[in-house]
Amino acid sequence: MNTGFSDKLRQFIREMPKAELHLHMEGAIPVETLFHLIRREGNEPSIKKIDDLRRKLCYKDFEHFIDVWVWKNTFIRDEQDFEEIAYQVLRRLSEQNVKYVEAFYSPGDYRRKGLSSQGITECLIEGKERAYRDFGIRSELIVDLIRDHGPAIGRQRLDELTPYLGKGLIGIGLGGSEQEFPADPYAALYHEAKKRGFRLTAHAGEVMGADAIWTVVEKLGVERVGHGVRAYEDPQLVSLLKERQIPLEMCVMSNVRTGVCRSIEAHPIKQYHQEGLMVTVNSDDPTMFNTSISEEYLVLVQKLGFTMSDLKRLSMNSIDASFMSAEDKERMKSQFEKEWQRLIEKHCGRS
Ligand SMILES: [Zn+2]
Repeated sequence: MNTGFSDKLRQFIREMPKAELHLHMEGAIPVETLFHLIRREGNEPSIKKIDDLRRKLCYKDFEHFIDVWVWKNTFIRDEQDFEEIAYQVLRRLSEQNVKYVEAFYSPGDYRRKGLSSQGITECLIEGKERAYRDFGIRSELIVDLIRDHGPAIGRQRLDELTPYLGKGLIGIGLGGSEQEFPADPYAALYHEAKKRGFRLTAHAGEVMGADAIWTVVEKLGVERVGHGVRAYEDPQLVSLLKERQIPLEMCVMSNVRTGVCRSIEAHPIKQYHQEGLMVTVNSDDPTMFNTSISEEYLVLVQKLGFTMSDLKRLSMNSIDASFMSAEDKERMKSQFEKEWQRLIEKHCGRS
C-alpha cells in the first residue's frame, strides 16, 4: 500500500461518522492529560517526559496490562478529576467525528481512596455535558460493576447509582478478571438491574471461552457482549448470536496487545462480519493500547481487507447496537447516511 493512498484512507476514516460502544473512560484518558496527572503528584521519577509514559504503556501480557492499569489509577486524586477526564476523552473522540459514545467507568477502583461512586458519577456527567456543549458529542455512561468485587458490592453500587439512571447513566457492565471470577453469581443482580431500567452488557469470551459467553447471554440476559472473541469455539453459539443479532463489542487492537489474539490477521472479526453477526468496532482502552477508534477501522481495511461498504455497515451497526431510543437511532442513522454521502463525494468525486 503506497503512502499517498494510506494517508487518504486514514483521512477518510477519521472523517467517517462513528459511534463508540466499548470504551473505558479511565483507559481512554488522553496521554497528555494522564501525563499531567502524573506530574501533578510529583512522585513518579520514572516518568519525566511524555515518551517515558508512552513506553510504559506496552505490555508483556494481560497480567502486566492490569498492573499498569492499577498504577495509572493511583494518579487520579479526587472526584473532580473525572470531570476533566470525561471532557478530554470526549474531545478526543469528537475530533475523530464520533457522534455518540457509551462509556464504561469503574468507580469501585477508587473506593479505597475515599472517592464515592456518586461523586465520580456526578463529575463524569458534568464533564460529558460540557463536552456536549462544546463539541456536540452525545454520550451515556455504563457503570462497570467489576466482577472481582463480588455481587454483594455490585448490588450496593447499583443501589447507590440507581438515582442517576436516565440522567447520564444508562446501563451496567461487568469487567475484571474473567478467569478468576465467572459471571454466574451475577445473574440475580442483572435481573434486578433490568427491572430498574438499566441496559445490560458484560465482558465475556475475551480471555475465557464460549461457555463464558453462554453464561452472560443465557443467565445474565445481556443485550450485548463485550468482546465475545472466542465465540467461534462453539458453532451453536455463533448461530445463536447471529439469529438473535446480539451485538458483539469487538476491540481488535486490545485483543492483540493483551495477547488474546496472536495477530490482527488471527482475529475473528471478519469471519463474524461475513457470517452476518452483529459486529461493532470499538477501541476499549485507546490510551493504554496505543490505538484509537479511527485506528481500529483502519486496520480492518489494511490488514483484513474490509471494504468501504463494510465500514459503512459497521458504523451503522454501532447505532443499531446502541442503547439509544428507536427514534434517536433513526435520527442518527439518517445523519450518518448524509455524512457518508458527502464523504464519498469529497473523497471519490461521485455521489
Ligand atoms: Zn473492555
